[in-house]
Amino acid sequence: LTRSPYEPLTPTTMPARLGGLPEMTRRLGPSAEWRVREVGDGNLNLVFIVEGPAGSLVVKQALPYARVVGESWPMSLDRAYFEHEASMRLGARDPGRMPHMHLFDREQAVQIMEHLTPHIILRRGLIDGTRYPMLGGHLGRYLARTLFRGSDWSMETARRKADVALFAGNVELCGITEDLFFTDPFHDCVRNRHNPLLDRDVIELRGDRALKLAALRMKTRFCTSAQTLLHGDLHTGSIMVSAEDSRVIDAEFATYGPIGFDIGSLLANLWMACLAQGALRPSDDEATSYRGWILALAETVWKVFVAEFTHLWLTERSGILGGRELLEHQDDAEGAALALNALLDEIWRDTIGFAGIEMHRRVVGLAHIAEFEAIADEELRAGCERRALRLGRALAVEPERFSDIADVSALVAELA
Ligand code: ADP
Ligand code: MG
Ligand code: MG
Ligand code: MG
Repeated sequence: LTRSPYEPLTPTTMPARLGGLPEMTRRLGPSAEWRVREVGDGNLNLVFIVEGPAGSLVVKQALPYARVVGESWPMSLDRAYFEHEASMRLGARDPGRMPHMHLFDREQAVQIMEHLTPHIILRRGLIDGTRYPMLGGHLGRYLARTLFRGSDWSMETARRKADVALFAGNVELCGITEDLFFTDPFHDCVRNRHNPLLDRDVIELRGDRALKLAALRMKTRFCTSAQTLLHGDLHTGSIMVSAEDSRVIDAEFATYGPIGFDIGSLLANLWMACLAQGALRPSDDEATSYRGWILALAETVWKVFVAEFTHLWLTERSGILGGRELLEHQDDAEGAALALNALLDEIWRDTIGFAGIEMHRRVVGLAHIAEFEAIADEELRAGCERRALRLGRALAVEPERFSDIADVSALVAELA
């Protein structure tokens, strides 16, 4: 694999190029019997499913450009390296939530990993109206464990500094987040696009100083608050689900940033899925019922996050920010509770701020969501998108309205 210079794989060349790897043949059987499909629904990368007589695997390879735009948007192959490094860490911090990695080749920007099956992308499941009883618990614990265990409350100083330095190298993908989330949607940028029926809303939005100040406030949090190693792209298209299992994929945007960023990205996508239900379900009753399930899912994610984060803070707080000398060791349990509550309040405020920004970029920025794009009727779609902008603005500009996640659920239900 490494003896040749970088070259994109194809279904035709895959058996010859990877057929000598025991990591492949042990799990698949001989390369002459492989069947290879490219399945990347992919914004950025090539993803192949390789099936053989003994089993199946996924091969993901970075391209030297962004697949969704083409060769005119060059992009570093080393994003595969950062994805692999991040996946190893996130996978170890909450074992079982990431696909198992079998092999990584930096020169070819190739990751060979477990084929998740019969899993589907969560966003697809939310469009289809499927319920996943285990999902809220899985995601709440995943968030608490990865975000706490990658933070200064858990990590020892030398390891933490070396790790920050390593992920500072993921400058290109982090820069995409800086632009695409926090800047592009709020001015007239060529990368943006929107439903033409929203022309007037977009003019209003780009003259909305309070909103732009909120975008700058959240960009400042994202860029300057290196609290933990984030997944960095944790929307419902980066989660794969089956009836009992939930997995997180696609960590190439990993960067050190604020704990609320991953949580806010995920919750925003759940809340936007709620706003699409009126147009996606066959009847109002079904829309109301399924929307209720998604709202309860979002609340479970947050509540399980808080419970697990609290547990880890009490039992695993051994890193740079241990702080027990000042609190517990002085028998000040009340002080310890105040410290934890202040931290959880800050995380909640960040979470809703980032959720509000995410909603804007998904309606008027470059990358849109399938829930809205799936609505064929332009008027219906515009209605959903407009409600997402209203919800997003309230979250970003008036965070004091939402002291609890139930306050967000109430506004989602009212708008929908
Ligand atoms: P990109 O970085 O291009 O977005 P992803 O890692 O999100 O690539 O993968 C693209 C698609 O490939 C996913 O939406 C999913 O359908 C499929 N996929 C990726 N990894 C796996 C896996 N381990 N098992 C099964 N399907 C996968
Ligand atoms: Mg994708
Ligand atoms: Mg990706
Ligand atoms: Mg992806």
